Amino acid sequence: MRVLVTGGAGFIGSHLAEALASRGDQVTVLDDLSTGREENLAALRRTPGFRFLRGDVREAAAVEEGAEGAEAVFHLAAAVGVRLIVEQPVRSIETNIHGTENVLRAAAARGIPILVASSSEVYGKGIRCPFREEDDLVLGPTHVMRWSYAAGKAVDEFLALAHHREHGTRAVVTRFFNTVGPRQVGRYGMVIPRFIEQALAGGPITVYGDGTQTRCFGHVGEVVRACIALLGTEAAWGRVFNVGSPHEVSVQELADKVRALVAPGCPVEKIPFEVAYGPGFEDLERRVPSVERLRAAIGFHPERTLDDFLPEIVADVRGRY
Ligand code: UDP
Repeated sequence: MRVLVTGGAGFIGSHLAEALASRGDQVTVLDDLSTGREENLAALRRTPGFRFLRGDVREAAAVEEGAEGAEAVFHLAAAVGVRLIVEQPVRSIETNIHGTENVLRAAAARGIPILVASSSEVYGKGIRCPFREEDDLVLGPTHVMRWSYAAGKAVDEFLALAHHREHGTRAVVTRFFNTVGPRQVGRYGMVIPRFIEQALAGGPITVYGDGTQTRCFGHVGEVVRACIALLGTEAAWGRVFNVGSPHEVSVQELADKVRALVAPGCPVEKIPFEVAYGPGFEDLERRVPSVERLRAAIGFHPERTLDDFLPEIVADVRGRY
């Protein structure tokens, strides 16, 4: 199959593109290399039929060029990471809304299936844990820029579902929960590579807030497998799926695990959220996916846990450090 992966030079996108290429697909990656990295494409460049287009999904012409001849699209190009969203809100909102609009149009015009990557951020503050796909979304006020990401991704979801309803487009929406693995960088805020980089530098490891907030970390390999299975499943078209792991860990526990693996003597410093992200920032206490719908659709069972994959991520960050 000829497949377009937008954001294919990014962390999740490059793993996805490699998985597609290794099953024999001819992959085109469209990426503007704003947060994606050229070196993530190294293995892909050796696969037959691989094509890289450096371009921005906000430009309809770039999307059209990428979609030429494609038989399926995985749309992962987006502004990601809390730090990036807070620091560059205009560009982030435009990329996440206009970009998705362009990519959905290109897929709908060709009648090809499309997976649209959304985020667990759309749940906002959440009404209960675990988060279920049909739960209400509870976002904060518009002067808190963090919520612009959730609102933008929610619009993307509406658009994907609207294309399905109006044009029969085979669209699947995935809400990614915290996804980790090799190639993720800490620069845009992601906590695991940040903690590892900090520990390698001798510290301190910066725990925001009191460290009791929890997250569930899913391994990128399992996330990618779920995405590929979902787009090939008729019952998934026109639906939204949580994709992630339900194993919960507190940020303090995470800091302790990283410290034990990388630098046992490394100091841990607690930093108030408003110092880390600016005044008015709201963090989430818990974020846990329900994976029932995913299990029912594709038989998904996340097997990998943080303890099993953290050493692999440490080795990857150390290699780049
Ligand atoms: N976090 C932290 N120190 C850091 C970066 C993040 O304590 O240097 C916390 C952050 O406040 C959040 C959790 O780690 O509670 C996960 O943050 P990340 O940005 O990776 O993901 P998200 O907030 O989107 O879940």
